[in-house]
Amino acid sequence: MTAQHIIAEVRNWIDDAQRVVVLTGAGISTDSGIPDFRGPQGVWTRNPTAERLSTLHTYLADPQVRRDAWQERLVHPAWRARPNRAHDALVALERRGKLHALITQNIDELHQIAGNAPDRVIEVHGTVRRVMCWECGVRAPMEEALARVRAGEEDPKCNLCGGILKSDTISFGQALDPAVIERAMRVAGEAEVLVTVGTTLQVYPVSGVVPIAREAGARIVILNAEPTALDAIADVLLRGSIGELLPAICGG
Ligand code: NAD
Repeated sequence: MTAQHIIAEVRNWIDDAQRVVVLTGAGISTDSGIPDFRGPQGVWTRNPTAERLSTLHTYLADPQVRRDAWQERLVHPAWRARPNRAHDALVALERRGKLHALITQNIDELHQIAGNAPDRVIEVHGTVRRVMCWECGVRAPMEEALARVRAGEEDPKCNLCGGILKSDTISFGQALDPAVIERAMRVAGEAEVLVTVGTTLQVYPVSGVVPIAREAGARIVILNAEPTALDAIADVLLRGSIGELLPAICGG
């Protein structure tokens, strides 16, 4: 089959389905200027030590790691990023009444900014646009903490209890929110078509939504520039640019 035939077939599956579930990863946001982690230009591919800023134990134990992390957050590419046409394609899919749920590993909130309903987006790895106090659990806008860093605080502490503040994202070594990951697994089991977009499918437990959807009878479509860990169980592999292929299969 040619690439055009494959795209037409996936588009037919989506046209016929009531419940499409999409799982997105960092690759959907690279066209918005946010680098991924493991792609050829990924943050960790270029600088393997960057990973330590995302490790819970070192973040909590080492004040220097926290100071470095706050400096990184000040210049995070998410602050300037705008949704791209792949995000827009998923908004169109929702407006067509097809999008059952949008599970994302991303922490940039570009799906909600593009216009997907917040209650349809399942953020399994949290969001960089909030902070959370590691002591008392209170959450607050990231911008308030960044303003304090800009004003000279190197490692701002919780205003309520003095505890360590961290972005409200899941670091390595940190447990996921059980209710959030359970919801992701449940909606995957309800999918007629599951499309994964821009993820290497190496991160668990979220990648487990793919075998769950497959066992429940869903068609599995994997869209990524590179091979992924779960290519073997896909019905269709779409290899190429997300910005071109996702609008082509979502319709609108
Ligand atoms: P990943 O970095 O492991 O993989 C991204 C994949 O997308 C790569 O295989 C890459 O080749 C592909 N890709 C990148 N741009 C593409 C494009 N334009 N077209 C087609 N393919 C493209 O990403 P992951 O599996 O999501 O895991 C990274 C983890 O890091 C996630 O858990 C996430 O929480 C976090 N993260 C989030 C962001 C964000 O919020 N935007 C950015 C970086 C990392």
